[in-house]
Amino acid sequence: MSVPSGETPSPPTSLIDRFGRRVNYVRFSVTDRCDFRCVYCMSERMTFLPRARVLTLEEVATLGQAFVELGVRRIRITGGEPLVRCNVLWLFRELGRLYEHGLMELTLTTNGSQLETMATDLRAADVARINISLDSLDPERFRRITRVGHLATVLRGIHAARAAGFQRIKLNSVILKHRNHDEVISLVRFAINHGLDISFIEEMPLGVIGDHDRAEAHYSSEAIRNDLKQVFALTPTTEKTGGPSRYYRIPETDSRIGFISPHSHNFCGTCNRVRVSAEGRLLLCLGQEHSVDLRHVLRAHPGDLERLKQTIINAMAIKPRGHDFQLNGQPVILRHMNHTGG
Ligand code: SAM
Ligand code: SF4
Repeated sequence: MSVPSGETPSPPTSLIDRFGRRVNYVRFSVTDRCDFRCVYCMSERMTFLPRARVLTLEEVATLGQAFVELGVRRIRITGGEPLVRCNVLWLFRELGRLYEHGLMELTLTTNGSQLETMATDLRAADVARINISLDSLDPERFRRITRVGHLATVLRGIHAARAAGFQRIKLNSVILKHRNHDEVISLVRFAINHGLDISFIEEMPLGVIGDHDRAEAHYSSEAIRNDLKQVFALTPTTEKTGGPSRYYRIPETDSRIGFISPHSHNFCGTCNRVRVSAEGRLLLCLGQEHSVDLRHVLRAHPGDLERLKQTIINAMAIKPRGHDFQLNGQPVILRHMNHTGG
């Protein structure tokens, strides 16, 4: 099946919050587990959810159907590392069927470790775009940041994804002062040379990580832009890809350079998304705890799609105005990014 063009008529979203924001994008974290232990995402010793508390893939597929019937156009699969979830390709194929019912884009965020073997199947399952996390091009640094990852494996994964023919591939780089901030120019060069987009992300204070002081490691999007401007001519654009990135173009290249700046440029006013955690909590905001237990509805009322949809509609009333990230002191949000689904 091919992905329909943007002209496909689709019903308007029923999901509108009390600030008038239209929710048309959902991210599902399909596992809290991961084969990496990135220093900004997890602590070294993590306790993962027992299997019974994690949504089954069938439950995630049911949620996908409910959200699309409510007018959601974009679904992103994330985690944890989504590609380490057993049989996850089945889920992509199931969600791919929703293109017939209004879904416009099925996307994936991955650390790239499994792409070498899975990229072709993911493309065949109609995944349109992929975001691949890449914070360093130096193997030792890459290992230090991910604690256990191999750069060469991820680079092979990136090449496999390019060969598989996704509409677009974007790199995501979390930039930390004194750890990888001096690599932003090489990362952009890598993106340009391989025809990729790249987004630089400011670290968010989610969960206790124990590795570094987040305030000390903060490196703002503005600092990155200033570094890049020494070498590249950055032209601002109004292009969007559904998420919070603000994009720039570099003349005579295909690459877009994005900035996700929760600290220096709050993006909450135009928030169009919600998340579902691996255990089925509908999270109304990345940086707040407002949530609704969808797993309970799925398990207490199996097959009752209308009740599930009504629960999601009702949840819009508690979507908060925005996050409240503070860099100093203990994090207010104790859940780690691998639970939340970045
Ligand atoms: N494992 C996959 C990956 O790394 O791409 C998907 C899940 S990961 C949680 C999604 C994205 O969140 C990644 O790009 C990662 O770099 C980013 N991330 C994780 N923890 C973060 C944090 N504390 N602040 C900002 N971004 C974070
Ligand atoms: Fe795993 Fe992604 Fe978190 Fe890194 S950022 S530990 S790859 S979930």
